[in-house]
Amino acid sequence: MNKDRKKLLFYVRYTLSVIGVLLLLSSIFELIRISRSDELSSSVQSPTLVSHRVLFLCSYNSLYFTYNDQIEGLKETLYPNGIEFDVIYMDTKKYGSEHDIDMFYTFLKDRLKKDNGYEAVLLGDDDAVKFALKYQDELFKDLPMVFFGVNDENFAEEAAKNPMMTGFYEMDYLSDCIDLAVALFPERKELVALHDNSAAGIADEEIFYSLDLEYPGYKFTDINSALLTQDELVEALQGISSDDAVLLYMTCYSDCEGKTYSVLDRTNTVVKYADVPIIRNYSGGREQGVLGGVYMDFRHQCRDAALIIVDILENGADISDYALDLDTPSKSVFSYPLMQKYGISKKQLPISTEYIGEPENLFTYYSKVLPAAVMIVTALLILIVTSNMAVSQQRIDNEQLKRSKEDLEKSRNRLKYQADHDELSDLLNRRAIVDTLARKVKSGDKYAIVMVDIDGFKDVNENYGHSMADYIIKYLSKELKEMSERGNWLTGRYGGDEFIIMIPNVNLDTDSEEVIQILEAFRKPIVVGEETILLSASIGVSNSNFENLPEQHIINAEIAMYEAKNMGRNTVFIYADEMQLRLREESRLKNLVIEAFDRDQFYILYQPKVETLTGKVVGFEALVRAEFIQEGPGVFIPIVEKNGWVTRLGRIVTEKVIKQLAVWKAQGKELLPVSINFSSKQVNDLGYVSFLSDLLKEYDIPAKYIEIEITESLLLEKSIQSDRLFAELKGLGIRILMDDFGTGYSSLGYLIYVPVDEIKLDKSLVDNYLVPEKDGFIGDVIKLVHDINKTIIIEGVEEEWQFKRLCDFQADAVQGYYFSKPLDPSSAIDFQVEID
Ligand code: C2E
Ligand code: CA
Ligand code: CA
Repeated sequence: MNKDRKKLLFYVRYTLSVIGVLLLLSSIFELIRISRSDELSSSVQSPTLVSHRVLFLCSYNSLYFTYNDQIEGLKETLYPNGIEFDVIYMDTKKYGSEHDIDMFYTFLKDRLKKDNGYEAVLLGDDDAVKFALKYQDELFKDLPMVFFGVNDENFAEEAAKNPMMTGFYEMDYLSDCIDLAVALFPERKELVALHDNSAAGIADEEIFYSLDLEYPGYKFTDINSALLTQDELVEALQGISSDDAVLLYMTCYSDCEGKTYSVLDRTNTVVKYADVPIIRNYSGGREQGVLGGVYMDFRHQCRDAALIIVDILENGADISDYALDLDTPSKSVFSYPLMQKYGISKKQLPISTEYIGEPENLFTYYSKVLPAAVMIVTALLILIVTSNMAVSQQRIDNEQLKRSKEDLEKSRNRLKYQADHDELSDLLNRRAIVDTLARKVKSGDKYAIVMVDIDGFKDVNENYGHSMADYIIKYLSKELKEMSERGNWLTGRYGGDEFIIMIPNVNLDTDSEEVIQILEAFRKPIVVGEETILLSASIGVSNSNFENLPEQHIINAEIAMYEAKNMGRNTVFIYADEMQLRLREESRLKNLVIEAFDRDQFYILYQPKVETLTGKVVGFEALVRAEFIQEGPGVFIPIVEKNGWVTRLGRIVTEKVIKQLAVWKAQGKELLPVSINFSSKQVNDLGYVSFLSDLLKEYDIPAKYIEIEITESLLLEKSIQSDRLFAELKGLGIRILMDDFGTGYSSLGYLIYVPVDEIKLDKSLVDNYLVPEKDGFIGDVIKLVHDINKTIIIEGVEEEWQFKRLCDFQADAVQGYYFSKPLDPSSAIDFQVEID
């Protein structure tokens, strides 16, 4: 995914999630608003700033069926206008006697004395209006009074004539109810009115019978609960024809014994015992079993009454401007389950009818919260989508990261692989296999290092060409690789036609299975096109020995491999064998050396040194031999040194040489200087020089006949012992020769500082440099030695031309087979150079 697209997606996601969050927040606010408005509509908050107070004188008490509607209506209008109201109940349904009214008057008078901040009076129902008129001067002088719920029309008209009073007549919707009863139940021909003797009850009864004439064919009867006991009432209710009648339930609070009942109580009785449709011209009872009916909207009426109060108190309106209001809207409320029971449809009822117990339509129930719900769902969807987008983007990013990491890792691995592997053979290359072995092999491991070299591979190259050679290397590498994988070996290409293999957990022998397997792999005929090529390999093995590092074993395996080649190719050589051989050889020699010491079998040969200028013998080099040791001193002296016997041998040689000089002297021969080889290990023989000087004295030989050949390494050592040695020898008057010049650290410059009298040029220098065109170097060395006032002798001179050339270069002396091999003493002392 390109960067721009990613950026764009990010902004889209970002914007969407902002929208989602905003939508979620606003839907939450919307929900809060809805629930708040529900609360507000169910109960109006009391005013925070009160500017007026009014009194609501209620004829009954708070349980009266009209009460709640009235209070709600009043609050709805008064509270928003800053008008507060108190309610005082006369409760005349219970306490309606003259005495009760007097008592109430006393109570109210007392109350108003203490707290009379009322600016207007609301009067609920007839009794309150009657009371207010009676005690107007004492209690409510000059206070505007608005009544409502007055059932008696004449009385209402009368009251409205009072200049401080106006109000609302409580319209009776009984006739509407009767119309409904007739319309809904055309087959029922009896209408039974249930009422009592309360103001409303009497008014209703009157209206009821006045309508009788309008419904010919209908039977109008009534039950007056005020004339019956509870039981008689039940009986009367049970007596109503269940098929033919409709009950018009009006009021029935009292019985003939003067007891009053609550609406709830009486309604329960009515619905229980009257098995007929019940129509009611008042509110209440629809939940309990009353079918329904039309009644005056008390809430509406009280709202209107309160409006008059507001107009007077707030706007200074005159109460006398308001006439009696006879027209109050009705309300139709029906029980939905009972409608079902009686087969009544909504169409038969007024449009504004409220249905109680109607199974709620989900849509209408939720229609208020629907927008909020839609918003919430949308917001959540948006948030889910954006978070999904974010998650999938993250996943893509992660995958990309992982992939690029993997790619990196892969290319790193590939590079490492390329760096570690030989391109042609796909085996580990020389460096990698050496490194791997060094890393992987621990000193305690058991393993074998195998070095394989194809025999005569050079011939393949020459006879068949490089591409064939490459093909063969590839082919054999593949074979080796397969074998390695089977045996868990570590295999690499060590050089052109050399392979190295580490075989774990074994030490190999010449006839080990693995060795034979490798040998055979290389022996197998290789068919290329028409050609069949037969090869073989030489194998060297070095087995782990808990001692050497793998690097050493590689070297040993290589040595062993060369040994195998020496043994005639196509064979195996185990390094340990050679070592054993050498050890065995060493111990044999050691025994011979011990014997030589014990039986005094050492003797000395003398090799003449010839002066170039004169061709005369000018001295000898003493070279030690042992009687029964075939090998020369070059082989047995290292064993002598190794065993710490060099001091002893050094003194033996010295003694023999001096004795020989003494013999020659006794024979009357002309003495010549004899040089003695001095091993660098002999430097620790601190008594050597005094031993030598004692011998010289004992045999009466002048020191000038002894010379000491020391090696470069001893000169370079510059230890206290070597310094002392040179000083003592000098002190004795003995010449020092530097032997083997040109084999070690030789630098011409340092010759100036060494305390030697003569330089002896090693045979290897003669071999390497004393050839036409290169020999200028030898000439320079000779010249330099002369420049620093030292003499130079050249050893290992085998050819005449070499001698001649050295004469040209003015070397002081030569020594070599050209003149003579080392000779026994008598031959040596009589040796003469034959000059032709
Ligand atoms: P070096 O001191 O370099 O002695 C010279 C060696 O070269 C001698 O071998 C000698 O026989 C040989 N040589 C001389 N001229 C020729 C020539 O023209 N061609 C060839 N191919 N070889 C020539 P050698 O006697 O076997 O002694 C070997 C080495 O043993 C000596 O090397 C010396 O380092 C050591 N060595 C011999 N005798 C003694 C000794 O008494 N004491 C000690 N410490 N070392 C000795
Ligand atoms: Ca020597
Ligand atoms: Ca030498």
